[in-house]
Amino acid sequence: MGGVLLATDPIEYNTGRKTVKLVVRNTGDRPVQVGSHFHLFEVNRYLEFDRDATFGFHLNIPATTAVRFEPGDQKEVEAVVFGGKRRVIGFNALVMGYTGDEDAPTYFPARLKAVRKVRLAGFKEIAEKEAEAAYKKQQGRATPHPDPENPYGWCDSSVVKILERREYTGCTVNFKTYTNSIWDKKQRENPVEKQTVFPDTHARIIEDDVFEKVQVIRQQRHRMTRTGRSSIFSGLVYCADCGSKMQYGSSNNGDFAQDFFDCSLHKKHREKCGGHFIRVKVLEQLVLKHMQLVMWYILRHEDYFRFVMEQQMKLESAEKFQVIRKQLNWDEKRITELKRLFIKIYEDNANGCLSDERFDMLSQGYEAEQKQLEAKVISLRQDIEVQERQNENIEKFIQKAHKYVGIETLDPYALRELVQAIYVEAPDKSSGKRRQSIHIKYDGMGFIPLDELMKGKK
Ligand SMILES: [Zn+2]
Repeated sequence: MGGVLLATDPIEYNTGRKTVKLVVRNTGDRPVQVGSHFHLFEVNRYLEFDRDATFGFHLNIPATTAVRFEPGDQKEVEAVVFGGKRRVIGFNALVMGYTGDEDAPTYFPARLKAVRKVRLAGFKEIAEKEAEAAYKKQQGRATPHPDPENPYGWCDSSVVKILERREYTGCTVNFKTYTNSIWDKKQRENPVEKQTVFPDTHARIIEDDVFEKVQVIRQQRHRMTRTGRSSIFSGLVYCADCGSKMQYGSSNNGDFAQDFFDCSLHKKHREKCGGHFIRVKVLEQLVLKHMQLVMWYILRHEDYFRFVMEQQMKLESAEKFQVIRKQLNWDEKRITELKRLFIKIYEDNANGCLSDERFDMLSQGYEAEQKQLEAKVISLRQDIEVQERQNENIEKFIQKAHKYVGIETLDPYALRELVQAIYVEAPDKSSGKRRQSIHIKYDGMGFIPLDELMKGKK
C-alpha cells in the first residue's frame, strides 16, 4: 500500500461562509447517508430536522465525504450555504431554482414554494429548538428546562408593552410617534394627550376601567427589599399623619412574619414624623377584616349603603364643585375677552395705529394665553364630569362587592380592584396594649364610614 502525503497542514474549507448548526434525527427504519454537497433541505424524507433553516445549505464536511445516520440516530451537524450561483437543480426536485436571499430580502418565491412542497410531500421536519432539546436529553446533557415561575419565557418588556397597549380596549391609536422633519429618521414618542384615539374600531379584549386601573398600578413603585420580595400592598400604604408613602421592608433572616411597612419620612427624619411601623401580617388582617365587613354590609343593606354614600359624596364634592365652576366661568370669560382684544389689535394694525412689531408681540402673547386657558378649560370640564359620575362609581363598587362576598384571603387582584389607598395611624399604646387603626380609601368611593353605617342599620 502506498500513497503520497501532499501536505501535513490542515486544509481550511468553506471559510467565511454562512453556517448553521442543527440536530438531525433519522426517524426511518434504515440507515441514511448524506453526501457532502447534497442540498440538505431536500434530503431523505425520514430525516427530521429544521428544514426551513437549511434552504440553500449543504453539510459542512470535506467534499466527497458523507455523514451516515443509523435508524434512530440523532446527530448535531453543521451546514454551510452553497457557493457559486446558488441555483439548486435536481435532488428531490423541490426547488429547481435560486436559493439565495440577497436580491429580495423580503420575498422568496422559490423558498416559499419549496417549503410548501416539503410539507405536502410529508418530509419530516421539526423546529430546531425542539430538536436540540431532544438531542441534549438523549446525550444526557441538561437542557434549559422551563422556569416553573415563567414557563413560556415571557420577558418583562413584552408584558409591559402588552399592558400599556390601549388597542386592546378596542380602539385605534394614531400619532404615537412623530419626527422633527422628513430628514430626521428618529421616531420620537408623542405624549398621550397628543395622540388621537378612535374608540370601538374593533372588538375589545379588556374593559376600559381595567385598562385605566392597570395604568395606575404601573405608575406605582413596587419596592423590592434586599431579600428580593415585594408586597401586594406596595404603593398603597400611606402614613396617616404626614401623608408620605410607607415603605416595605423585610428582615434579613427570611422570616415572612417579620415583614413590615414604615413611614418613609420617619425613616429619613425621625423628628418630623413619629413611627407608624406596622407588620404586613397585621395590616393584612385589618384590611381583610374591613373589606369583609363592607362586603357583608352591602349584601345585607344595599339600599341604605347607597343612600349614605351618595349623601357623603355630595357633601364632599359640593365645595370642590363650586370652586371648579367658578374657575371655569372665569376662564371662559377671559377667552372671549382675548378674542375681542385680538380683533382690536388687528384693526389697529390695519389702520396703522399699531406697528407691526408691536402687533406681533401682542398677538403672540394673547395666543399663548388663549391656548393655555383652553387646555385648562378642558381639564376643568373633565373634573366636573368625574364628579358627576359619582353615582356610577357607587353602582360599580356595589357590583364588585357582590363579586367578593365571602372573600377569605386577600389576593392582589381583589386588593387592587377594591382599594385605592390605605392610611395607617400611629400605634396607640395608652391602654397598655398596642392598638393600631387604619383607614381604607376604596376605589372610586373614598372612605366608607362603616361605624356610622352599622349604627344606622345593623
Ligand atoms: Zn409619617
